[in-house]
Parts: sequence; C-alpha cells; structure tokens
Amino acid sequence: MSKYVEKVLKDVQAKNANEPEFIQAVDEVLTTLDPVLKANPVYEKNAILERMVEPERIVMFRVPWVDDKGIVRVNRGYRIQMNSAIGPYKGGLRFDPTVNLSVLKFLAFEQVFKNSLTTLPMGGGKGGSDFNPKQSPHTPGKRCSDAEVMRFCQSFMTELFRHIGPDTDVPAGDMNVGGREIGYLFGQYKRLANEWTGVLTGKGLSFGGSLIRPEATGYGNIYFAENMLAMRGETFEGKRCVISGSGNVASFAAEKLMQLGAKVLTLSDRSGAVYAPDGITAKMLKDIMVLKNVKRGELADFAKKTKAVKFFAGKNSWQIVDKVDAAFPCARQNELNGADADFLLKHGCTLVGEGANMPSTPDAIAKFVAAKIMYSPGKASNAGGVATSGLEMSQNSERLSWTREEVDAKLKGIMKSIHDNAWEAAAKYGHKGNYVMGANIAGFVKVADAMVAQGVC
Ligand code: NAP
Repeated sequence: MSKYVEKVLKDVQAKNANEPEFIQAVDEVLTTLDPVLKANPVYEKNAILERMVEPERIVMFRVPWVDDKGIVRVNRGYRIQMNSAIGPYKGGLRFDPTVNLSVLKFLAFEQVFKNSLTTLPMGGGKGGSDFNPKQSPHTPGKRCSDAEVMRFCQSFMTELFRHIGPDTDVPAGDMNVGGREIGYLFGQYKRLANEWTGVLTGKGLSFGGSLIRPEATGYGNIYFAENMLAMRGETFEGKRCVISGSGNVASFAAEKLMQLGAKVLTLSDRSGAVYAPDGITAKMLKDIMVLKNVKRGELADFAKKTKAVKFFAGKNSWQIVDKVDAAFPCARQNELNGADADFLLKHGCTLVGEGANMPSTPDAIAKFVAAKIMYSPGKASNAGGVATSGLEMSQNSERLSWTREEVDAKLKGIMKSIHDNAWEAAAKYGHKGNYVMGANIAGFVKVADAMVAQGVC
C-alpha cells in the first residue's frame, strides 16, 4: 500500500472510529487504487482521496409521528450527500432499525463509485431512518399499519424536502422502502414543494415511474454475470444457483436466472433459508413474491405450506447445498463470511454476483479473488437499479415513457458497459479478470477527473 493511501486510511480510522461499516467500505476501495494513483500524481496533489472520504453534507433530523394508538413516536432521519462532482446526489432511502451514520456513510460512499460506473451523470448519496415498518411499536409480532407507514413517511419528507430536488438530490428506495413508501414520500414532497417533478425514483407507473425499475437491480445483476460467463464461453443453462434474500433484488434475480435456464435452489429471509432440491419453480417464486410484498410474511410460513422445499431456520443460503455453480448474495451487508466462501468454493462455486451492497466480508472477498473465480462486487453488479433510476429521471424530464423492451435493452447495454469498463480498467493496470480492482478504478477515475477539473470545492 502506498504512503498516501496509508495516511488517508489512518485519518479515516481516527476520525470515524465508531463507524466500522464506513471504514470497511473505504478500506476496500482505497487499497485497490495504488496503480491509478501512482500513474496520476495529480490526484494526490489535489487531495482527491481526502475529499472523497468526507461527505459534502450530512443532514440528520427528528422524525416525530403518531401511531394508531395515538402515541407520539420519534425516529431519526438522515441524508448523506456524499459527492456531486458528476451529477445530482442519487441513492436510496433505507428504513431499518440497523440504520445509523456508519451504515449510511458506507452506502453513500459505495454509491459514488456505482453511479459513476453506470455511465450516467449521477453523484452519490444515501439516506433513511431507524424506523422499522416490520415491527409495530405497540403490538409485538405485528407490522406497522399502512396508515402508520404513511404518517411516518409524511413526517420524514416534511424535513427532507428542503434538502432535495430534481437537480439537487434524487432519492429512491432501498431496504424496506418500496413502491408503497415511495408513493407516500412523493405525495408529501409534491404537497410541500407545490410542484410535480421527478424528485424520487421508483415511483408508481401512473405517476412517472419507469417500467423495469422494480426488476432492474436483480435483472442487472444477472446480466452482469452473463457478461462474466461469456468471457469464459459459458451460459446460465443448467447452472445450479443459490440466492440469499427474498426481497426486491433477490426475487428478480431469481426470475431472470429461471428465464435463462438456470436452477434456483435457495432464497432466504430473517426467518431462515428455503432449499428446493429440484429448483424453485415460477409458481413458487410468484407465491413468495405475494407473501413478501403483499402479505408481508416470512419464508418460514411458505415452507410450512410447500412440501417440495426444506427449511433451515435462522440460516442463510451458503452452507446448505452440496453442489453449487453460482451464488448471488442479495440481502444485506456482511452476510457472506470467510467460512461461507470456503464452503462455496469447496462445493464447486465459480461465480459470485453481488446483488446487495457489500454482502461479502473482506475475508470472503480475499478468498474469491485468490481463487480467481468470477466475482463481481456489488457496486458494479447491482448498479442496474440506480441506472434505471437514471433512465426514470430522463423520462420524467422529457415527459415521456419508454416501453418495457426499450428500458430493458438500455439496462442490458449499461450492464455490458459496466462489465467491459471494469474488465478493461483491471487489465490496463495489470490485474486482468479482477473485477474488484476494475470496478473501483473505473468508478474512481471519472469522479476524480471531474473533481480535479472543478477545482478545490
Ligand atoms: P428488501 O426488498 O427489503 O429485501 C431485503 C431482503 O434481505 C429480505 O429478504 C430481508 O428479509 C433480508 N434481510 C434483511 N436483513 C436481514 C437479516 N438481518 N438477516 C437475514 N435476512 C435479512 O431490500 P432490497 O431492495 O432487495 O435490497 C437488498 C440489498 O440490495 C441491500 O443491500 C440493498 O442496499 C441492495 N440494493 C438494492 C437496490 C434496489 O434497487 N432495491 C439497488 C442496489 C442495491 P426480511 O423480509 O425477513 O426482512
């Protein structure tokens, strides 16, 4: 590691000592940038790394709301505006009790590189709240009602609206923020700002949403993996795949894999993992999507009613299948550790495509890279979601809607560009086939060049 990177990392650790996820994300990127920093001393001269690890702005605010029993509840809201060198801040909102400054700063930092990779003009941001829509504050074991979620979203937006705008900062969904929440947030923004603009993406189709946006992250992850396979002359036909999660990203990754002739063996959630030895069928996947998105239930309930699957309570998908060709972590950060990586590699896995953000621990990443398997970091392979959000912004600005086929073709093209740019950047700096190096370098260069051109700001 160069002295420059070492110094910046030390400063980041000292200044953000209680933010482990943020330090992990910064460490993962900075330790791969030496070749490009050495070749371009202008970056060090302009303190590009020092500026990239410092958010341009953080907004933190109180979110008071009233539950169905009339009790006043208070949550904490955040928006991290990380970097706007190449476009307005763009990145999702996450509602989850695990949300804190460290988690959101790691996500915002990752987002800067991811958005740069999409080839679209979007800066990086992230936000959310420690609000838990999956647990009612007054009735254990019950979820928040729709009315409670609406009141929370309205209060959250009542503060957030003054910090965002279609040319300033355009949030989207993330964990626990789907179509329902985006609808409530958009309604409140429109009311407060007295204008109809594409200030949020992931909107409903009747009010400016884009076709394929719900599918985009999951589909995009599989399109990226198809590009990796093509480099080795392979396809998904007959491949045995394990997936974690059963939310937005996981379910559409599963759908696309099935369309391409792969066998999807597992999905998971907080209750545990389901394993279908003969493959999850289209009908099972449809039932799971209704269970998760409409009934808002658990996979444990699905497993009780479905004879063709086995259920592993409290387990993730990594260590329950004996023969695996490809693994797709699509649930959350740090959900695949070194022991999981060992198991997967030992049981035949030659491809890992990250749908979630930072799902593999540093230990697991090191094992995948050392084994020289096809391993794509989330910032490259899950960029299809934000790329399609960028396409939604374009459609909103032009006041028109593209067809499903048009959006899907653009998404495919963007995922191929991301793959090729990462591949070429890795090869250019002497690390052919290493998508971690390639994605970090390609994402970094575009933002760093824009920052240099814009002077010290
Ligand atoms: P989601 O629809 O809320 O699904 C999240 C899934 O992860 C659910 O199945 C959830 O299970 C599971 N999960 C969450 N925490 C868990 C825990 N502690 N233990 C076990 N399972 C857990 O979210 P999503 O939109 O699919 O996002 C998944 C990941 O992809 C996140 O890392 C997100 O940042 C990333 N991502 C999403 C997008 C996008 O467009 N949505 C784009 C880029 C990256 P339960 O249902 O039981 O909670």
